[in-house]
Amino acid sequence: MKNYTGMNVLITGSTSGIGLAIAKVFAKKNATIIFNGFASIEEINTIQADLSRITSGRVLYHGADLTKQNEIESMIEAINQDVGGVDILINNAGIQHISPIEDFPPEKWDLVLALNLSAAFHTTRLCLSQMKEKGWGRIINVASVHGLVASMQKAAYVAAKHGIIGLTKVVALETAKQDITCNAICPGWVLTPLVEKQIQTRAEQNQQTQEQATHDLLSEKQPSLSFVDPYHIGELCVFLCSDAAQQITGVALPIDGGWTAQ
Ligand code: NAD
Repeated sequence: MKNYTGMNVLITGSTSGIGLAIAKVFAKKNATIIFNGFASIEEINTIQADLSRITSGRVLYHGADLTKQNEIESMIEAINQDVGGVDILINNAGIQHISPIEDFPPEKWDLVLALNLSAAFHTTRLCLSQMKEKGWGRIINVASVHGLVASMQKAAYVAAKHGIIGLTKVVALETAKQDITCNAICPGWVLTPLVEKQIQTRAEQNQQTQEQATHDLLSEKQPSLSFVDPYHIGELCVFLCSDAAQQITGVALPIDGGWTAQ
């Protein structure tokens, strides 16, 4: 089994949901964890303490707003100085905005594209030279089933997630001759604050209970009728970093209860 002790794992958007679960899974492997995202000081301290109890490595926080190129540059610079670079980069931070295209606010389009797509371009370009120098690196982009198929009213999100799968393939080709891989993970519904908001909106719009809205949300798209467990996404990330996955690069891997099999 791979030893993650001494390895630096940056997980963007890891103060909540899928990113936080991924951080905990790598903490269990004793990696050094760099977590990022928005939260109150109390929440950040709690996450830092929780992760520090799990891992024997260091736990660092950087609060960069990843819609801002200069803050991404400062974050990577700080990580390089503190721990000597990123070995495993997990581009996870993402937001959603739901609206028919003719009413889609252009500033929301820009924001979703900046966070869900451009941020991964910036972190990747800034981490790659160090990975190449070390001769090893793993980049995982948390895309979505919406990188493979579309849903109505999610123009920016679907465009950004299709885009990040394209970016994944280019990075995979440009690094193919080194021991560096770049892959995308495509989750279906995962019960996180991002999806809880959508269930709440459905319940209000259709005058349903939370339970009915949750059932409808799942049965529309996810044949398993179960949410994906965020820790299973963490385990999938660990697998993609393992030696067994050395020749897996440039793929977009669904973890979606059958959503994209339809
Ligand atoms: P979440 O809302 O629980 O977490 C999002 C994280 O991103 C938080 O830590 C938040 O603070 C951070 N974030 C938001 N804006 C930021 C910014 N400007 N700069 C830095 N960090 C920022 O969401 P989640 O459901 O855990 O989603 C994580 C990823 O998984 C996203 O890319 C999302 O598109 C993807 N995804 C989620 C689902 C799902 O069903 N939840 C399905 C497929 C893909």
